[in-house]
Amino acid sequence: MAIKPNILLIYTGGTIGMVKDYKTGALRAFDFNNLRSRIPELNQLDCNIKTISFEEPIDSSNMNLDNWAAIATIIETNYQLADGFVVLTGSDTMSYTASAISFMLENLSKPIVFTGSQLPIGDLRTDAKENLITAIQIASLQENNAPKIQEVCLYFEYKLYRANRTTKINAEHFEAFNSPNYPAIAESGVHLKVQNHLLHIADDKELVVRKKFNNNVVVLKLFPGISNHVIQTILNIKNLKGVILETYGSGNTSTNKEFINLLSKAINKGIYIIDVTQCVSGSVSLGQYETSTHLKELDVISGKDITTEAAITKLMYLLNQNLTKKEFKIFFEKSLRGEMSDI
Ligand code: ASP
Repeated sequence: MAIKPNILLIYTGGTIGMVKDYKTGALRAFDFNNLRSRIPELNQLDCNIKTISFEEPIDSSNMNLDNWAAIATIIETNYQLADGFVVLTGSDTMSYTASAISFMLENLSKPIVFTGSQLPIGDLRTDAKENLITAIQIASLQENNAPKIQEVCLYFEYKLYRANRTTKINAEHFEAFNSPNYPAIAESGVHLKVQNHLLHIADDKELVVRKKFNNNVVVLKLFPGISNHVIQTILNIKNLKGVILETYGSGNTSTNKEFINLLSKAINKGIYIIDVTQCVSGSVSLGQYETSTHLKELDVISGKDITTEAAITKLMYLLNQNLTKKEFKIFFEKSLRGEMSDI
C-alpha cells in the first residue's frame, strides 16, 4: 500500500455537486471540477485524491441498473490502484445504490464510502463539506498496512453506517439516514470513533464482480383493504420473477383464502416471494403468529431484518445467479454482505 493512501472519488450526481439556477430557482448539476475548487480543504487531506465523474451527472432518482453497473465498473477497473473509494450520489436513492454495489462486489477488502448532502456545496450552511471530507478520511483509514474499513458504507451527518442496512428517513434534516437494525460502525466527533467489533473483516479472497441484475421484480406493500384483484394483477405480470412482499409486524398477512391461493399459485409458477416487514425496525419471524404460519407452509422466503432497499437489490442480484429454488431460499435467508442478522 502507498504511504499516502490513494482515494478515488466517484461523482455520479446529486445535490452535493449542484448549484442553483437563479433564473428558474431549480437545482442543476455542475461541472465536477468545480467541486474541488469549492472545497480547497480537500487538498489538505493526507491522501492522494483522484476524481472520476459521470459524463452527465444525474439526480439519484434517475439511477438505474446501467448506472449501478457503471459505478461497479469504475471500482473494478481502479481496484488495484486505489486504496479506498468515495462515491457521491444523491441521497434520495443512495441506500438502494449502495446496497446494489455491496451485492455486486464479493470479497471486497477495501472501503467504499457513499456520501452526498442535503444542501448544495455552494450553500452557506451546506452539509456537503463535512460529509465529503470525513468520508475521504474514513476511506483513507489504515491499520496494519491494510484498509481499516473493508466494506460498502454510507457516511452522513457524523455517522458511518453499513450501507446495506440504511434507509433514507428525512427529506430535510441533515440527519437523513438511519440504520434501524445495525448500529453505526463509526461516529465522527472531536475524534473519529470506529466500532471495531461491528466491522466486516474481509477474507483473503479475490474480488468477484457481478454486475448483471434482473429487474423483473416488484415491491408489493400490503395495507388493510388491498383488493385481491390488485394482488392478482401484480402477480400475473409477464415474466415476473420475484416479489418483495411488505407485510405487517413480524411478517404477518391476511389469512383470506383467496389471497393465500394467489400467493400459492405465484410460488408454483416459480415466482419468489420474500417477506419483509413494513416496520422500521425488528425482524420477520415466520410462524410466530397464526397470521404467518400459512406463509411458512407456502415456503415464502423470510427477509428477516433486511431493509426493503437491500431486499430488492439482493433479489435482483440473486435472480441472475442461476440458483435452484432451494439454493435461492438458502442464499436469500443468509447474510451475504452483512445485510441481515443471522437470526
Ligand atoms: N434529489 C437529490 C438526489 O437524490 C437529493 C440529494 O442529492 O440528496 O439526487
